[in-house]
Amino acid sequence: MYSHIYKNVSSILAEIPAEVSVIAAVKNRKPEEIIAAIDAGITTIGHNYVQEALSTKTKIGDVGQCHLIGHLQSNKVKKAVEIFHLIESVDSLSLATALNYQAKLQEKIMPILIEVNIGREPQKNGVMPEELASFVESLKDLSNVNLQGLMTMGPRLISSSLRPYFTEAKRLFDGLKKLESINADICYLSMGMSDSYNIAIEEGANMIRLGKAIFDRKVN
Ligand SMILES: *Cc1c(COP(=O)(O)O)cnc(C)c1O
Repeated sequence: MYSHIYKNVSSILAEIPAEVSVIAAVKNRKPEEIIAAIDAGITTIGHNYVQEALSTKTKIGDVGQCHLIGHLQSNKVKKAVEIFHLIESVDSLSLATALNYQAKLQEKIMPILIEVNIGREPQKNGVMPEELASFVESLKDLSNVNLQGLMTMGPRLISSSLRPYFTEAKRLFDGLKKLESINADICYLSMGMSDSYNIAIEEGANMIRLGKAIFDRKVN
């Protein structure tokens, strides 16, 4: 029934470089679809919602690594620190501070990525590119979070127009790597979705987040 998921995952994993991590974006997918993706070789699932992550966990248990890729509300921070291996969507100092506080209470170090609003779109979440350096600076005192890189969505454009945005995200990522900080280990640049992952990888992404490309039947 879900053999298309197996085929999709196999061909994606065969086509991309081995060092690129694939995150299955599982919003609104059934537990059986998620299990099919895991069986096909997916090792990490990305949730948009804490509530959905919890109910998935209840239904299918702990399968692989679990990332948060959607916006995190402050009243869900405690649960988020409990269940996620990486929170990709940190976009404000108040959120980072709340995560740090919860991580300390839970005696953990919480790995995070900063979400960058690479298209500078007013309606989108994320730190503006020109504010990134001072944002990173302000994380330095938060010893229970570990900054591991950047995540970006990119504006909703036809994929061929996205390249310059990905190029800029890579430039910011490389700049981040040069900053010395005790609580940062910069290694992940999470960008590229189903329509854009090839371009994102060409521009330096080493983490891609795929929904449709994994779960939808190809029409041809
Ligand atoms: C849905 C989603 C994706 C995947 O989108 P597709 O176009 O289905 O590949 C990636 N990242 C985030 C944050 C998402 O919400």
